[in-house]
Amino acid sequence: MTATHELTQKIKAEALRLGFSACGVAKAEPVDAVTAERYHKWLAEGNHASMTYLENNIDKRLDPTLLMPGAKSIISLAMNYYPAQKLRDDQFQFAYYAYGKDYHDVLKQRMRKLLSSTSLNSVNSLLCVDTVPIFDRYWAYRAGLGWIGKNGCLIIPHAGSFFFLAEILTDIELEYDTPIESHCGNCRQCLDACPTGALQPHTLDARKCLSYLTIEHRGDFPDNDLVAKATGRGIYGCDRCQLACPHNRFAQPTSVLEFMPSQAFLSMRPDDWKQLTVEQYRTLFKGSAVKRAKYEGLIRNISSSK
Ligand code: SF4
Ligand code: SF4
Repeated sequence: MTATHELTQKIKAEALRLGFSACGVAKAEPVDAVTAERYHKWLAEGNHASMTYLENNIDKRLDPTLLMPGAKSIISLAMNYYPAQKLRDDQFQFAYYAYGKDYHDVLKQRMRKLLSSTSLNSVNSLLCVDTVPIFDRYWAYRAGLGWIGKNGCLIIPHAGSFFFLAEILTDIELEYDTPIESHCGNCRQCLDACPTGALQPHTLDARKCLSYLTIEHRGDFPDNDLVAKATGRGIYGCDRCQLACPHNRFAQPTSVLEFMPSQAFLSMRPDDWKQLTVEQYRTLFKGSAVKRAKYEGLIRNISSSK
């Protein structure tokens, strides 16, 4: 047994002990030509809507060794956020990922613990939780965690897609995993479930996507009637293309306490949301990723919902 193998196994075992659901390793190198070409085309067609930051640092996004010079390995991590307790159908809906505390803080804290408990805190490393230009799903795929479904999500076999993804870039050599082939086959349930036609196999048009429109988009909706009709009771994000995926029948409730919703959140009725004050908003979403939409954005979404 080599030292590289032993260290890789130790990192994976520690990751599971710390509450990650899956951990794999890929070699740090440029992404493949198909992925690079697809990204350039996606941007050129304007599918990123107003998210112009996606046009920045393209060289680094396509090659993690430019993101962290000397990087040799990418440790890919997944953490389950599938909620045990959900909002009822007669309540306003939030995407599951937004039920609990902000995942950026939760994941980073555990990634630091992972480095210290494997004695790697002194090696060169870069923690990536959404704020670094890197293709999470691509590296999770390359690290053998799962495959990228037609809905663009990383699907973990026998577990589904309700997972936060994160990476640790490091300059140490590790043992690399083998990617898993797609099991999407002829299925198109996610595509058919999208209420706005935003989804084509492996391509998302953010301009039509309710997740983008209700979270990232600022100001009035481009087509308020269309959004109002499509969102229904959804007021923050959209999970329909994930809920439609047959692989999510394997989803198990998360055991990460920080991702569990508060009783105050779960007890909100439509009338409560319609009267939401700034103070209530701040209390309800203290330390939550929902702050991304800002109070004005959430009120706009509430006004458009049914
Ligand atoms: S998140 Fe909703 S609107 Fe966006 S692609 Fe998926 S189903 Fe369509
Ligand atoms: S719904 Fe079907 S096509 Fe879409 S990601 Fe899941 S398995 Fe793949």
